[in-house]
Amino acid sequence: MIAPLPLAGGEERLSREGAGLSEREPGTTDPPGRPLPQAGGGELALYVHWPFCVSKCPYCDFNSHVRAGFDQQAWRDALLADLAHEARRLPGRKLTSIFFGGGTPSLMDPVIVESIIGAASTHWATAADLEITLEANPNSVEAARFADLASAGVNRLSLGLQSFDDKALRFLGRAHSASEGFRALETSQRSFRRVSFDLIYALPGDTEASWSAMLGQALSLGTSHLSLYQLTIEPGTRFATMVARHDFEPLDTDAAAALYELTDAMTSAARVPSYEISNYARSRQESRHNLTYWRYGDYAGIGPGAHGRRLGMRTVRHRKPENFLSGIARSGHGISEEMPLSPTEAADEALVMGLRLREGVDAGAIAERFGFQSVVDWTRADRLAASGHLQRDGTRIVLTAAGRLLLDHILGEIAAVQPIAVAVAS
Ligand code: SF4
Repeated sequence: MIAPLPLAGGEERLSREGAGLSEREPGTTDPPGRPLPQAGGGELALYVHWPFCVSKCPYCDFNSHVRAGFDQQAWRDALLADLAHEARRLPGRKLTSIFFGGGTPSLMDPVIVESIIGAASTHWATAADLEITLEANPNSVEAARFADLASAGVNRLSLGLQSFDDKALRFLGRAHSASEGFRALETSQRSFRRVSFDLIYALPGDTEASWSAMLGQALSLGTSHLSLYQLTIEPGTRFATMVARHDFEPLDTDAAAALYELTDAMTSAARVPSYEISNYARSRQESRHNLTYWRYGDYAGIGPGAHGRRLGMRTVRHRKPENFLSGIARSGHGISEEMPLSPTEAADEALVMGLRLREGVDAGAIAERFGFQSVVDWTRADRLAASGHLQRDGTRIVLTAAGRLLLDHILGEIAAVQPIAVAVAS
């Protein structure tokens, strides 16, 4: 019996809405290196959340809203005000990435995208290789904007293809067809030097044969980055209602785990190996933005529902678009909550995030950074090393393929924040 695949951690979900998981589809789980450049002090990532979609996908639990219309100018002004607020809090930083997520940010007027990029570049010094990603859906209206978005400064597109099969796309409630997806990919590859696309697998009825055919096709399309997620049924979604009504049965966990192992083998053979639980890239084509989340760097998050983590604080913005606009009008920013992260919370999060990466995580560095003697129970870690679930090099821990299938379980086993002993004067 294979244990369930790891569920997405809270931070990953935060990321998507301004925290870590930009390149992650809602209602999906992350199935399950090389050393990568580390984010240094003073560096900053910026997440911008655009909350609108043309329709709501039945698996989606992201902060996305369908509206008959919205005032692009009002949204431009609101996002610029929210950005200026973060800039006042974070002077002197160097911006390394901007990520426009959603929702469907390819619905944004490219002029707004250009304004935000311009303002961010005024507020902060920018890295010479500033990565600017925008998530896009592949319907023809949005694809027609790709050249304008590239002119606005976007240099990396993340395309939500999700499947090459029309039946699967209908099941997922997607507003595009497989042929539109292929055309959008071609268009995007003409406009952007770096294009990533998402696929969702482990759908009901998926088999190793059907998934290996689709993944093989994906790997033949010349992309340097892929996000491959397993479908999960999130509470409160239409799919959750359908499963409760027995309209369909999710794929069982053993079958899903087998598909994950197949994915790992095929992407490695194609030299697009995983660098994170569900993200795969050619060498030096990893998402710099998401690496900031997983390496526990600072990021500002603006826009409805966006999360941020900066200066030891967690920030959360108003989720509902109308409430966000009211917050901006009232206070000049969209923050609904701003709370300090305790050293224990921060150390736990940093460990959780870091273990997602193929490069692993230096638990000793985390302990030192947050003032603990240790953040790991090394006796248990060594036991898991002996059983082949992780590798240990000093205080660096890297999960093996078997360990990545059991990420949540392993975290529960080894996470153990131990305070530094304080000498008490007698
Ligand atoms: S397009 Fe993306 S964000 Fe919008 S409803 Fe569908 S899954 Fe959610």
